[in-house]
Amino acid sequence: MIVGVISRISGPVVLSEGMRGSRMYDVVKVGEQDLNGEIIRLDGDQAVIQVYEDTTGLRVGEKVVNTGNPLSVELGPGLLSSIYDGIQRPLPALAEQSGSFISRGLSISGISRERVWEFVPKVKAGDRVRGGDVIGTVTEHHIEHRILVPPFVSGTVKEIRGGGFRVEEPVCTLEDGYELSMMQKWPVRKGRPYQKKMDPDTLLATGQRIFDTLFPVTKGGTAMIPGGFGTGKTVAEQTLAKWSDTQIVVYIGCGERGNEMTDVLTEFPELLDPRTKLPLIQRTILIANTSNMPVAAREASIYTGITLAEYYRDMGYDVALMADSTSRWGEALREVSGRLEEMPGEEGYPAYLATRLAAFYERAGRVICLGSDSRVGSVTIIGAVSPPGGDFSEPITQNTLRITGTFWALDTNLAYRRHFPSVNWIKSYSLYLDQVKEWYAHSGFSDWMDLRARAMYLLQKEVELQEIVQLVGPDALPESEKAILEVTRMIREDFLQQSAYHDIDSYCPLEKQYWMLQVILSFFDRVNEAMARGVALSKILKLPVKADIGRMKELTGIEDIKGLITTIDDALGKLEAER
Ligand code: ADP
Ligand code: MG
Repeated sequence: MIVGVISRISGPVVLSEGMRGSRMYDVVKVGEQDLNGEIIRLDGDQAVIQVYEDTTGLRVGEKVVNTGNPLSVELGPGLLSSIYDGIQRPLPALAEQSGSFISRGLSISGISRERVWEFVPKVKAGDRVRGGDVIGTVTEHHIEHRILVPPFVSGTVKEIRGGGFRVEEPVCTLEDGYELSMMQKWPVRKGRPYQKKMDPDTLLATGQRIFDTLFPVTKGGTAMIPGGFGTGKTVAEQTLAKWSDTQIVVYIGCGERGNEMTDVLTEFPELLDPRTKLPLIQRTILIANTSNMPVAAREASIYTGITLAEYYRDMGYDVALMADSTSRWGEALREVSGRLEEMPGEEGYPAYLATRLAAFYERAGRVICLGSDSRVGSVTIIGAVSPPGGDFSEPITQNTLRITGTFWALDTNLAYRRHFPSVNWIKSYSLYLDQVKEWYAHSGFSDWMDLRARAMYLLQKEVELQEIVQLVGPDALPESEKAILEVTRMIREDFLQQSAYHDIDSYCPLEKQYWMLQVILSFFDRVNEAMARGVALSKILKLPVKADIGRMKELTGIEDIKGLITTIDDALGKLEAER
């Protein structure tokens, strides 16, 4: 066992002598109180350690003990509905007694050792198994938790037992004597292995029109939500957690303000999964970093989160990982780097900020899992970014933007005007359009891309027209262009605006999205036809069908929405006949 001595303490960073033989990322116990820490730099005999707990009271000369293990998480039944800190310590009491944090130096297990789970074997004696194979299942809330052979283990089953077991008890023994339990460990800084990464060709349906129709993200893809204070990042992340078509959610909350995480901790467990009406937390793992927790734990939290996400991916599930906000993670990295007296890069962030961000987002993906049944699972990462002052030129936004596939730019002006989601349709983009086009075509929406392109063209045209209006007033525009402004208002208000709190509209199925846009665009086409036949725009704008279009959001029947196309046609036909 390697035991060193503290020679220097600087906030969360501790220098220890006598650590020769240690490895990078080994977990150490620091000082008399056994504070949890991790080696982040080695230099001969010296180790630099980031400590996950408050170092107040720690003194030079106290001991440092290397545990010989890398920072790992525990994987097994009991993860779902847990609330953890950045190093997988459960924080159940935190919500009630905000402010009182777990005492230092504790190593609480990530999953319960006591709880008994009903294990149902899926293989039998004599079967050959290898890493990733499902040896049995356990019901975790309503999710089938598949017990997997750990990667790199293989052999022939000698004995397997069904029944009630605790996570550490062996449930299966291989011919060579190797015992498998329901729990395994995995080092958080290392991605869990899979057979093959697949093309991200499947839409992650979110039920949010601005996302699904205009700027889609795929299962296994990556998206970022940058936005200034109050633009709707947290609401967006929570809406996505509720409505995305994934079975599992890992939600990493890094508090923006002092009490914001307390809100998340009290509110999140009360959210209902709108589809099952069961508590959303039953298919969620929540990782919470409040602003008064030590920064190093915040640095570790995204790795803890992604490893838990990969574990459910490996069972063959679609997992969404939300990180709100990654800026707080970046700031933790900056603070530790500052303590290390490293050469600062842009705005004081370390030079390796870009590689760290890339390494995190690279762990997203849709994969063929390990194991002989070629299950497919995915981890989609959706990271919020909170640039100071809403200025997107800062390093976290810029570096994230280079590596993520979808960019949902939240806009302070839109939020101020209470246009929600405040996603700016001119600045945002998705690099998955080609893949999603195919996916939509296979799902029966062959002209989805054409509709989207027309809507985007009109929205871009609106910007030009508005500039003209600003200069010379609306009367200078010809009727045909006034009609464009009318239809883009519809696209913005009747299609893009979507309240996260509305009973019906908070979730919009794809088919409804498709027909809503069809209705608006066929209104546009029909208006142009009528105008060509001499009908005045002023008369068209008085038609009651305009208000019907405005109420489409609240309809649940697709036929009622489709029916509006006939209503539009009839109304305009009448105006034509009146001439
Ligand atoms: P941020 O996390 O960016 O600081 P929040 O997510 O807390 O911002 O959002 C601020 C407020 O904006 C919310 O309390 C809510 O009133 C409003 N809001 C944001 N998104 C929506 C939405 N989709 N529908 C309705 N209101 C929204
Ligand atoms: Mg927020």
